[in-house]
Amino acid sequence: THFGFERIKAHEKNEKVREVFDSVSSTYDIMNDAMSFGVHRLWKDIFIQRLGPTQGTRLLDVAGGTGDIAFRFLKYLKNKECSENNALGVKSNVTVCDINEAMLNVGRSRSKSLSWIDSSDISWVQGDAEKLPLNSDSYCAYTIAFGIRNVTHIERVLEEAYRVLKPGGRFMCLEFSHVHNPYLQWLYDQYSFQIIPVMGQVIAGEWKPYQYLVESIRQFPNQEDFKHMIQCAGFQHITHENLSFGVVAIHSAFKL
Ligand code: SAM
Repeated sequence: THFGFERIKAHEKNEKVREVFDSVSSTYDIMNDAMSFGVHRLWKDIFIQRLGPTQGTRLLDVAGGTGDIAFRFLKYLKNKECSENNALGVKSNVTVCDINEAMLNVGRSRSKSLSWIDSSDISWVQGDAEKLPLNSDSYCAYTIAFGIRNVTHIERVLEEAYRVLKPGGRFMCLEFSHVHNPYLQWLYDQYSFQIIPVMGQVIAGEWKPYQYLVESIRQFPNQEDFKHMIQCAGFQHITHENLSFGVVAIHSAFKL
C-alpha cells in the first residue's frame, strides 16, 4: 500500500491517527467541503434529522472533532423550539469527546464565533473512544460521525458506547461505507485514489493524511459486517440506511 497503515501495530495506529489529525486540524473543515463537494454537510444534516432529538436530550458526540455534529444538534433543537412550546424550558446539552486537543480547540473557537450558541450547552472533553472518561448509563444518545474507522479496536468503542448510554438510549453512527454497484465503485475508486491525495497536496499542502483517509475507508467493515459488530456489543433494533449509494451509511441501534 502507499502508506502501509494496515501493517502497523495498535499503539502505532493511535499515534499515526493523532499525527494525522494534528496536521489536518486547521484545514479540516475546508478539506471536507472540497473533497465531498460540500455533500458532507447534507449527510450530517440527514444524520441529525434521523436522530430527531427532543428537548432535554443529553447527547454524547464521540470523535466530535471540530463540532459539526454538536452544532447541528443544537441548531435542530433551536429550530424546533421556535415551532413548539417548550413551556418547561427543558435544556438539552451535548458533550463533544475527541482524542485530539487540536481538533477540540478548533471546535471551541468555532462555537465562540456562533452567537446563537450558549456555551453552557456544550462541554468539550478530551478522551479516547475506546476508554471514555465518562460515567455509565448517563446519555440519551451517542453519535459518532466519520470517527469510528480511525480507532484501533472498533469493538471496544461499541462496548463503551453501550456502557455510557442510559437504558433506552440510542447509538448512531455516520461513516463511509461500501458502494455495491461495480460501475460506481470503479468511479469512486478513481476519485479516491487519484484525486483526493492531489487535492490534499494542493489545498492542505500534504498528501499523506489524505492517502490514509482513503485507505481507512477501504478497510472499514461493510454495512452488514458492521451491523453484526454492533449486535455483538449488546445493542438491539439495529438498522442501517445508505446515503449516496453507500458512499456513507447511517447505522442506528438501541440499548434496551
Ligand atoms: N465527527 C467530526 C466530523 O464529522 O466532522 C470529526 C471527524 S474526523 C474525520 C475524526 C475524528 O476522530 C478526529 O477529530 C480524531 O481526532 C478523532 N479520533 C480518532 N481516534 C479517536 C479515538 N480513539 N477516540 C476519540 N476520538 C478519536
